[in-house]
Amino acid sequence: MKTDLNGKTVLVTGSSRGIGAETAKYLAECGMRVAVTYAGSKAKAEEIYNSLKGEGHLLLPLNVADATSVSEGFDVISKEFGGLYGLVNNAGITRDQLLLRLKDEDFDAVIETNLKGTFLCTKLAVKMMMKARSGSIVNITSVIGQTGQAGQSNYAASKAGVEAFTKSVAQEVASRSVRLNCVAPGFIATDMTDELPEDRKKAILGAVPMNSIGEPLDVAQAVAFLLSENSKYITGQTISVNGGLFM
Ligand code: NAP
Repeated sequence: MKTDLNGKTVLVTGSSRGIGAETAKYLAECGMRVAVTYAGSKAKAEEIYNSLKGEGHLLLPLNVADATSVSEGFDVISKEFGGLYGLVNNAGITRDQLLLRLKDEDFDAVIETNLKGTFLCTKLAVKMMMKARSGSIVNITSVIGQTGQAGQSNYAASKAGVEAFTKSVAQEVASRSVRLNCVAPGFIATDMTDELPEDRKKAILGAVPMNSIGEPLDVAQAVAFLLSENSKYITGQTISVNGGLFM
């Protein structure tokens, strides 16, 4: 695939592990200058940063659930990158529980990280992108936000919220050549899915028409497409990367 990403800057939230880490690596392979960011996993983020192809990358702490950390992170990016072409809002958590047992703090933590974190980063990124009249934001949602799932009401609400947020902001900034889209993964092999009970994993796999678990790279490649000029007439959309789990 021909891309024009060479030399462009991108921030990937939660790029210390899983989908974010693979996305950071893949975007660096596409020639991008990548800001690798972490909340708790500094050592893992350092490993990812040190493994990136090319030059001009950044490594910094950025906790999306903390407005001060987000603002400080964007200050570094603005200073070091002198602007931002791409943002991948990938950082996300789960706190699964059936509604009647779901604690207020677990509902709030998931919304604060997945939805409000996306809002905080998008707001600061859009400011830079509108000024430059160029930019692309990719928000990582989930099949769960599309279908709902027993035991994941907080997570499903956060991801459906991100989709609606994406469409709304996409309408606000389209005239400035800034695009926003979502990638909605299905069942991808990372720490997040590794911690699911075996019977749940089996049940999900049984429902995937392609009969296999996705790899972080499957998501990373869709992200690269949405960041690149190959998708220049696409905004406010969601690409599902789910092996057919939801159509
Ligand atoms: P993961 O392996 O658990 O990794 C989560 C990443 O998010 C880590 O890098 C973590 O950073 C970061 N993170 C968590 N809280 C953060 C915070 N407050 N601020 C900044 N970073 C934070 O998860 P994953 O499977 O790669 O998931 C990545 C994204 O894909 C999430 O949005 C998830 O909802 C979505 N997704 C995943 C799947 C799947 O099957 N795996 C399916 C659908 C959607 P630290 O370790 O540094 O704290």
